[in-house]
Amino acid sequence: MKIVCIGRNYADHAKELGNAVPDEPVVFMKPSSAMIHNSKPFFIPAFTNDVHYELELVYRITNNGRHIEEQFAHRYYDSVGLGIDFTARDIQQKLKAKGLPWEKAKAFDGSAAMGEYVALDSLPDPKNINFQLFKNGEEVQTGQSSHMLHDIDAIIAHVSQYFVLTVGDLIFTGTPAGVGKVEIGDHLLGKLEGKTLLDLRVK
Ligand code: ZN
Repeated sequence: MKIVCIGRNYADHAKELGNAVPDEPVVFMKPSSAMIHNSKPFFIPAFTNDVHYELELVYRITNNGRHIEEQFAHRYYDSVGLGIDFTARDIQQKLKAKGLPWEKAKAFDGSAAMGEYVALDSLPDPKNINFQLFKNGEEVQTGQSSHMLHDIDAIIAHVSQYFVLTVGDLIFTGTPAGVGKVEIGDHLLGKLEGKTLLDLRVK
């Protein structure tokens, strides 16, 4: 499986990092070795002094497809979960400044923390999903899927022109504003429509 990630998909987050709002999705990937599952701790790697959390809605692909039309994209997923796109911001800034790829900052071991999923048809409004991240009990991020610049159907249509999507692939859909640094001992809790889906410790 592969993990496809979208960058700068919320205008308020693009602004907080001083990035322009893109007119097509910013796409990068993480290998399957980046994944950590719910309740497993996240270990801060030795090569960075500035790891940020980015809470994101994550969709799991349920059908194989390429060149998927946007109007049919909803047939390729049926659940949504929460994940954290851990980012070594200090490394990313250096790579960005040189125009180099982001993998060392974004795709390292443990950089894709996944929680549980919920069926989309169990949600009050699958087109407007509310989610929050709490760090040590304090709310640090709040997002609504309706604020994405490119929604999941547009993302699938775009990404599948370049990469075949296969069952089990994950799509991280970008983070809202409020990203920040994690420290050893931090407790991160992600909630979707009030339900805790992600719960992890930083070590
Ligand atoms: Zn992200």
